[in-house]
Amino acid sequence: CGIVGYTGQKQAYPILIDGLKKLEYRGYDSAGVALHLGNHLAVYKKQGKVAALEAYAGDHPVASTTGIGHTRWATHGEPSDRNAHPHYSASGNIAMIHNGIIENYAQLKNELAGKGYTFNSDTDSEVLLNFIEDIKHNNECTLEEAVRVALKRVTGAYVILLIDTEHPDTIIAARKGSPLVIGVGKGEHFLGSDASPMLAYTKEVVYINDYELAIVRPDELILKNLGNERITPFVQKLDLELAAIE
Ligand code: GLU
Repeated sequence: CGIVGYTGQKQAYPILIDGLKKLEYRGYDSAGVALHLGNHLAVYKKQGKVAALEAYAGDHPVASTTGIGHTRWATHGEPSDRNAHPHYSASGNIAMIHNGIIENYAQLKNELAGKGYTFNSDTDSEVLLNFIEDIKHNNECTLEEAVRVALKRVTGAYVILLIDTEHPDTIIAARKGSPLVIGVGKGEHFLGSDASPMLAYTKEVVYINDYELAIVRPDELILKNLGNERITPFVQKLDLELAAIE
């Protein structure tokens, strides 16, 4: 399983598809992408190989410079199109991908169901997404703030990437126990489970640590801890030979 993301000046879709192929060696049963389209989000997802996703998305009829992509290794909910990521939030305004397991999802799902939430998949991931959206709604806060509050209540392992309709060029990312690398380019950023999806574009990378949250825009990479304190990103130059082995 793996995650990729891109925000910059280039077309996101081919970069995401190519990145997902580079991560295929990690194993997966489904693949999907979510793209920013001005005031709404487009999600394409499919059980099977990345090639099946490409065939399904066809001519990828969307011009978009910000997006996220996922390969899934099912843990909660069978491999299927509807359980594939990305997931839309209940409002349709947020799309999220997740690698890992949300251990306390059943309790959160009960709470949300009590508030009238319904779910389009059997995944633990969609529960976390709607939990985040519920916090955003109740606290009238930004997505970034809602993610931070939500993650304090979550147990388990995760790397998550989110995009939302309010922030056309922004990807929110966070991790605990699952890998996340951010590639720094000129006016663009790449995200990946490892550096392989970004090697063709940049050798400058930031390895994100557990309990860190990244706000990623074409010209800006903001790192924070879950206490909302800024952390200076440590940019490393990838060793070319090491990178080739990776
Ligand atoms: N637990 C999530 C699911 O079953 C994510 C699995 C993964 O790591 O790909 O959908």
